[in-house]
Amino acid sequence: MSKFWSSMVKRTEPYVPGEQVNQQDIVKLNTNENPYPPSPKVLEAIREEMAGHLQLYPSPTADDLRATIGRQYGLTADEVFVGNGSDEVLAFSFMAFFEPGQPIRFPDVTYSFYPVYAKLFDIPYEEVALNEDFTLQADKFFQSEGGVILPNPNAPTSLYAELVQIEEIVKNNPDQVVIIDEAYIDFATKSAAELIQQYDNLLVVQTTSKSRSLAGLRVGFAMGNASLIDALIRIKDSFNSYTLDRLALVGAQAAFEDEAYFKEITAKIIDTRNETTVVLEQLGFTVLPSQANFVFARHETVAAEFLYNELKKEGILVRYFNKPGIDNYLRMTIGTKVQMERLVVALRGILNK
Ligand code: PMP
Repeated sequence: MSKFWSSMVKRTEPYVPGEQVNQQDIVKLNTNENPYPPSPKVLEAIREEMAGHLQLYPSPTADDLRATIGRQYGLTADEVFVGNGSDEVLAFSFMAFFEPGQPIRFPDVTYSFYPVYAKLFDIPYEEVALNEDFTLQADKFFQSEGGVILPNPNAPTSLYAELVQIEEIVKNNPDQVVIIDEAYIDFATKSAAELIQQYDNLLVVQTTSKSRSLAGLRVGFAMGNASLIDALIRIKDSFNSYTLDRLALVGAQAAFEDEAYFKEITAKIIDTRNETTVVLEQLGFTVLPSQANFVFARHETVAAEFLYNELKKEGILVRYFNKPGIDNYLRMTIGTKVQMERLVVALRGILNK
C-alpha cells in the first residue's frame, strides 16, 4: 500500500492465474489449455501478416473477424464484440452492464475472476449457493437487482446447465443483463447463442483460448443484441482503440475458417475426457460429469492437496483450490492421450504407496 494509490487500486484483490512453466518435460494440466497446436492455417495467416503490415495499426473495429464469428452463429457483425481474451471482454461487460450499488449474482463455486472484477469496479455481489452436487438452481438467480454472470459449463466444476435453465434465468431478469460465460462450450451440448434473437438482455461470452488452441493469442468475444454490443464498443473505445493486434485478428479469423480442424481436435479431447473419467473412477476418484476440457475430481481416501503436491514432484501440474467446499478436489485439464496416460500412471504410483 502506498499513499499514491488510488482508492481503486486499494480495493483490488488481483486474480492469480495458474502457474506457467517453461520446463520442457512438464505435463501441464493446470490452466485448461488445448494440448493440440492451432490449425496450420492460423500459422500461415500470421506469417503472411507479419511479412507485410506490422508498421500499420490494426483495424480498430475488427469488422472482418466479427463478421466471421457472427456467421458461425447466424449473427451479424454488429451482434459480435471481440476483445483481448474473454477476460477483457468480461471486464468490459462488468463496466458496461453492472452498476455500483446494485448487487449482481454469481454461483458460490465459480470462476474466481468474477469477485475480482466486482471489487475493481465497486459492484456488490451475492454468491448464490450451488446444490450439494454443484448443480445450479435456476430460480435462485431470478429477479436479481444488478444482473447475473455465470459460466456454462461452470468452472471449476465442469458441469453444464441445460439451456432451458439458462433461458429461465434470462427470462426472469428482463431488466438486467445476464452474462453466460461459455469459455468451455465447444466441449458441451449447446450454446445459449441461439437465444440471442429472443432476449435483448442476454450476453454470451466465448473464447478462442480453449477449443481453438489460441490461449497465447488472446482473442475472446461476446455475442448479443446490437445495443449491448454497442455498449461494449463504447467502453473499449474509451480505453484502447486497438485491443487486438494484427496477428490476433488474422489468426483468430483463420481459426474460425478451419472448421474441420476445430471439429477434429474437439472430438479428440471429448473422447480422451470420457476415457480419462473411466480410468480415474477405477482409481477411486469421484469425477463430476464433465462437459468441459477438464475434469473435477476427488479421491475417496486420499487428500487432494497431497495428490497435487505429489504429482508436482513428478512433473505433472494440475490445479488445486484451497477453498472451502472444493478443497478436496483436483481440476485436471484434458491433455493428449499420452499426457493422460502419464497422469494415470503417476496417480496409480502415488495411490499405491
Ligand atoms: N472464463 C472462464 C470460465 C475461464 O475459465 C477462463 C480461462 N481462465 C476465461 C473465462 C478466460 O479465458 P481467456 O481470457 O483466455 O479467453
